[in-house]
Amino acid sequence: MTACIFCQICAGTLPASVVYEDKQVMAFMDIHPLGRGHVIVIPRHHARQLPELPPGLADYLFVVARHILKAQRALGWGLEGSHILLNDGPQANQTVAHVHVHIIPREKRDSLPSLGRLLMHVTGLYGPVVKRQRLDQQAQALAAQLARLPLLTAPELPAA
Ligand code: 5GP
Ligand code: ZN
Repeated sequence: MTACIFCQICAGTLPASVVYEDKQVMAFMDIHPLGRGHVIVIPRHHARQLPELPPGLADYLFVVARHILKAQRALGWGLEGSHILLNDGPQANQTVAHVHVHIIPREKRDSLPSLGRLLMHVTGLYGPVVKRQRLDQQAQALAAQLARLPLLTAPELPAA
């Protein structure tokens, strides 16, 4: 079995609260959210860093991330602002070595708790886990909003 936890989520051997999936990407709730409704988008194809991805897939990752951002805002999350974040490499605080985009909604007056969680995050301790039931509820709410947006079309890519 692969040691990569995000590949395990893709394979369905590690649980996740899935927001969206197609043949190229998956989006799911972060279990240690840095903001309410924090989502991670990953390619199914394992690559450690962005330049290793086929260009069409890298572009599509951000197309999906933008849809997630819209769905979050339709739910009122991140109306004041969000982080669209990709930590590309260990020196840039990447702790899971599988390319992923974070979409992290921020709220007014959340700077202090957010900073605390961020400090935990960069140490790899991550901080508190949100209950699966709560994450599932958030994932379902986001999926319902995504269904109202124009359909996403996963690109056909040459075999890796
Ligand atoms: P990085 O630091 O690599 O940019 O972010 C890795 C992210 O993966 C962190 O935000 C962390 O909370 C999240 N994470 C780590 N393990 C799991 C897991 O088992 N499930 C989910 N859904 N997220 C995880
Ligand atoms: Zn992987």
